[in-house]
Amino acid sequence: MNPIRSLFVSGLVSGLFVAGMTGVAFADDNADTAKMLIEKAQTSSLAWDLVESLTTEIGPRLGGSAAEARARDWAVRKLEGLGFANVHVEDFEMDGWRRGDIALHVGDPYPQRLIATALGGSVGTPVGGITASVVRFESIQDLREAPLGSLKGKIAYVADKMTRSQRGSGYGVAVQKRGGGASVASERGALAIVIRSAGTDYERQPHTGGVRYNGEFAAIPAAALSNNDADQLDRLLALNGDIELTLSMSAKRLGKVKSGNVIGDIIGSEYPDEIVLLGAHLDSWDEGTGAIDDGTGVAIVTAAAALVAQHATPKRTIRVVLFGAEEQGLIGARAYVKANAEEMEKIIMVSESDFGSGRIWRMDTGIAKADVPKADAILRVLRPLGVLPGDRTASGGSDVSALSAAGAPAISMGQNGWDYFDLHHTPNDTLDKIDPDDLAQNVAVYAAFALMVANTDGGFHAPEKETEDGN
Ligand SMILES: [Zn+2]
Repeated sequence: MNPIRSLFVSGLVSGLFVAGMTGVAFADDNADTAKMLIEKAQTSSLAWDLVESLTTEIGPRLGGSAAEARARDWAVRKLEGLGFANVHVEDFEMDGWRRGDIALHVGDPYPQRLIATALGGSVGTPVGGITASVVRFESIQDLREAPLGSLKGKIAYVADKMTRSQRGSGYGVAVQKRGGGASVASERGALAIVIRSAGTDYERQPHTGGVRYNGEFAAIPAAALSNNDADQLDRLLALNGDIELTLSMSAKRLGKVKSGNVIGDIIGSEYPDEIVLLGAHLDSWDEGTGAIDDGTGVAIVTAAAALVAQHATPKRTIRVVLFGAEEQGLIGARAYVKANAEEMEKIIMVSESDFGSGRIWRMDTGIAKADVPKADAILRVLRPLGVLPGDRTASGGSDVSALSAAGAPAISMGQNGWDYFDLHHTPNDTLDKIDPDDLAQNVAVYAAFALMVANTDGGFHAPEKETEDGN
């Protein structure tokens, strides 16, 4: 018996599941139905079957690629097969990109190859590559402080290490050099930029991820070194401050290509127009098979909604949105908000699963103060699964943060991300990294959560706007 299962059983035995003690949030029968769903989810292999199918039959699915289009067809088939209604694709346009090949070499007196990968969206180098001295910066802040023109004819290298943490807090800091470093370096005259990967592993796998050119300065080639190779470059630079690198990349930005969001509904029995929106993203980077990012999310929210439909009667509609092109900058999410502007006020909750398959250990809210007791009542049912109360600043997750920014109430289910950035955006992001028990715990949380939100009297409302004194 896994620990969660034993918690569940002891919870039943000791009566910890008795609902209604926190007040009037929802009728006891909704809590009881949620508990039944938790039990069903723990023994269901649906999520595993979905993520295995997606990562095996489609594999990598870069936003805007033919593989992502096949993933949309896959998702439509799966949602229809599971009994979702209104299954459809909402297309949008985006800028296409092809990774191509990369080679990065150190010049004399230490000639050797370093392992690197192109950042997503990067331009390539001229044929024959760029050979130039490398200038090291400890952080993007240091790069910003370099005088304009000081990197003329050089390759910039930003070396800060990502801090490992359960909540993934190190990512927000480490990713700044990846997203914005190229334009900062270009403004100072650099020919190219290499960064230490925004990742926490030592598997000699570089971590890709999007680079954002600001449009003001020339787009320069941008690549990430594996952490092992970043250490190596640090040692070489310590031996000899004047190191030349030769970077060759055949990455190419393509013209406009098509992507799309796949949508399916479990129609509510009483308030079909009110929507509980569960999100995940269908696209992935092209190096692994997008198992933890975000095949698990696709599987978790799809299986959770399907289990609700199979075993319960949600009063409001539970909508699953599998977003396209999240990795290139929430492109599908923005397209969804634009295409469905008139529906925004009918969305009473958004939540996205996009942080791998680690167990959910906290629940953060982004809801009106008056709705907090309703969230507490939901949390009470989730507590035996190991879920703790979080904070009140939730955006709901990656794509759906575009919806909460547009005024939708949000709850974020915080997963244990201690190991997430060992795999994130690397060739190592494959099915074997997923723990089926952890995956089932996620499905249990989302299924119970979706049902309880759908059936909560009065629904949920967006948090009050902050006043000037911060209240
Ligand atoms: Zn993701």
